[in-house]
Amino acid sequence: MAGPFTLKPLPWAEDALAPTISARTIEFHYHKHHKAYVDKLNTLVEGTRYADMPLEQVARATAGGKDAKDKQIFNNAGQVWNHDFYWRSLTPKAVQPGGKLKDCIARDFGSTDALIGQLAEAGKTQFGSGWAWLCSNNGRLSVEKTPNAEDPMAKGINCLLTVDVWEHAYYLDYQNERPRYLQEVLGKLLNWDFAAENLARESEPVRAAA
Ligand code: MN
Repeated sequence: MAGPFTLKPLPWAEDALAPTISARTIEFHYHKHHKAYVDKLNTLVEGTRYADMPLEQVARATAGGKDAKDKQIFNNAGQVWNHDFYWRSLTPKAVQPGGKLKDCIARDFGSTDALIGQLAEAGKTQFGSGWAWLCSNNGRLSVEKTPNAEDPMAKGINCLLTVDVWEHAYYLDYQNERPRYLQEVLGKLLNWDFAAENLARESEPVRAAA
């Protein structure tokens, strides 16, 4: 159904991440799961004050809410934002961290491999569905994990990268082997250029809420 929120185009061709993530996984993950969150969100916000808000603001306004409808809106808004962010966290180009990002990784983790190890551990130990994140707080980097639709962004924390650890992200390609999915994706597909852009954005003035 039509509504204020849209399914953003993928930043690469649907078979571009294969064989690490197959076109079939993208077909289901993007066209079914991600799209369903967009459609559900549009249904839920109809006639509410959230219909005119940017997506990030909807997630922030409903995060931690006690109201059942707000919780439902948060779950879908969070998942739309998280998936947009996940697709952009991945690239088939073999990029490496550079510049300020590389320096911050060396200072806070020792090496890119050590950071990847922490992301893998966060993804592995997230019980049930959720997400592993690389975040920045005034340039100080940290690895976080969140359950279900939650994200650090809704709490005002700057996110640099994320990896989806819901079963639908890996089951077709890796069955139950979440650690192997993490090892492959973290080692081959992370978009460090996207992380660097997100880190650079932190030093810009905060955008006024629309
Ligand atoms: Mn997902």
